[in-house]
Amino acid sequence: MDIVRLRGIGVSPGIAMGEVLLSKPVVFTARLEPIGQSQIEDELRRLARAIERTRQDLVHVKNMIREKLGEESTLVFDAHLLILDDPSLLQGLQNSIREEKARAEWALSKANSRYDQVFESLSDEYFRQRKADVSDVLTRIYRNLDARRERVKTPSKHHVLVAHELLPSEAALRLSRELTLGVALDMGGQTAHTAILARSLGIPTVLGLHDITGWVREGDFLIVDGTEGDVIINPPPAVRREYQAKKEKYDAYRLELTKTARLKSMTLDKVRFVPMANIELPEEAGMAMALGAEGIGLFRSEFIYLQSPALPSEEDHLAVYSKIVAAAYPNPVTIRTMDIGGEKSLPKLNIEQEPNPALGLRAIRFSLRNTGLFRTQLRAILRASRRKNVRVLLPMITEVEEVVEAKEIFEGVKAELRRAGEKFDEGIPLGVMIEVPAAAALTDLILSEVDFVSVGTNDLIQYYLAVDRANEFVSYLYKPLHPAVLRLIRSVIQSAQKTGKDVTVCGEMAADPLSAIVLLGFGLRIFSMNPIFIPRIKKALRAVEAGTAEKIVSEAMKLKTAQDVEEYVVEEVLVKHPDVFLMARPAEIRPSRAAR
Ligand code: PEP
Ligand code: MG
Repeated sequence: MDIVRLRGIGVSPGIAMGEVLLSKPVVFTARLEPIGQSQIEDELRRLARAIERTRQDLVHVKNMIREKLGEESTLVFDAHLLILDDPSLLQGLQNSIREEKARAEWALSKANSRYDQVFESLSDEYFRQRKADVSDVLTRIYRNLDARRERVKTPSKHHVLVAHELLPSEAALRLSRELTLGVALDMGGQTAHTAILARSLGIPTVLGLHDITGWVREGDFLIVDGTEGDVIINPPPAVRREYQAKKEKYDAYRLELTKTARLKSMTLDKVRFVPMANIELPEEAGMAMALGAEGIGLFRSEFIYLQSPALPSEEDHLAVYSKIVAAAYPNPVTIRTMDIGGEKSLPKLNIEQEPNPALGLRAIRFSLRNTGLFRTQLRAILRASRRKNVRVLLPMITEVEEVVEAKEIFEGVKAELRRAGEKFDEGIPLGVMIEVPAAAALTDLILSEVDFVSVGTNDLIQYYLAVDRANEFVSYLYKPLHPAVLRLIRSVIQSAQKTGKDVTVCGEMAADPLSAIVLLGFGLRIFSMNPIFIPRIKKALRAVEAGTAEKIVSEAMKLKTAQDVEEYVVEEVLVKHPDVFLMARPAEIRPSRAAR
């Protein structure tokens, strides 16, 4: 018999094996059943009751999830309550009922397809994922129109959950750390709420399988390989055995990771280093800290703009920042002002299509052109800084003038807040991303204007080597260990060290054990990365001596090619510290957006 193997996107690593529990979706009506004029008021009341029940449900689920998973996992419900309170949503539904003389079911169904269209037309995957939140709220209201309709049941035995799509609040209810062995969905991608939740619960998950619900029946046996993104339906015994062995290996590795998270961040010769996390969603902060992050080294705040169809208000910004700041406290949180523009263009911002977006009106260039948006963001960051654990980071700085201009705006916003009697951290540190080669050459001058720098190797390498970081045709040229790149990064780290101010590397390079050892050898002490990679970097750096790394790297800098550097460093490190690379590099999770 042929083995049915489906390929999707592995969003939460590990292997799960078990019986399928199939979750049936709510199907919105496709029929307009007209009602009489006299029934309109009744229908509006029915809608209002369903909305009220939905509010009670959401508050109830939120409390339940708080108990089950902790405060940071409840954020999605705050978002849902906000959507529920959105006056334009209610108005739209009421108008549909009144104008079309239709039932509330029809009004909700229409609203759902309208939001579908709006979100589908947006090019960014993350953006499209946020549609799930709106859909979730509409589905709940729909269910609540009829008290007899099936409510979400909490499962009672071990299972692999298969569904077309899991609405965020359903995901929180249905996923149980004890009973849900794995998850496989038709829809979804890396940034879906289900993905984030599954990762924080440690449940192997594959999304984006397109039609797994068409392939399986309740009770089938399923293997979910969340590392590779594979799902195998009713596998023969030999395949089961193969995956059982893989599962045991992975579980042992996972245990090792958890242990590593609790160990001291110190090299063999007792040099302290600091692992930090790069995050894109507030929900990731808690998991990052659990994986051993000693703070958030980079919050890519542009994702706030990608989350809702409207522009975020100061309060929207503040809500997100406050959640991260609370999850990380007392550790620092570095909020990078929006890196919008370029390929992260937003229709709602009316950004012109540019012929060469990577070299265009991006990041700080965009903020300095749109000072209204910039000031709103800075006000919120300042308001979130009361507990003195917030730092501000400016992306894509090319020249000192930009730093000066941004600082003037920042000072202006501070003065405004003082006048309004708003409290904030008067000593809030301001830093700059070094990701344009020109800024790298000016590190010392830039540092005379700011408190710290953070090296964004993802962009720095792309601009220095003239290699599009997302273009697979030239990816063979994208080499972090290219001797030219190493010289540049070494010079940035060393000029920063002379000033005594902090320097971090927050590009993907910091997440690669070999590169991290090279950076350690250059004198780097703060490494910020996708949280999932923190344990392996901790393990690698704990297994070397900083002094030895320094010696090895200074020899490696005499070599001519990236390959020579790599071979030399690997050999030398292995001779001195054979267990450095022991923790294999599992294809844990594809480096998310950072490797766009
Ligand atoms: C970088 O460029 O290295 C960086 C961290 O920023 P982003 O990946 O968000 O461009
Ligand atoms: Mg960058």
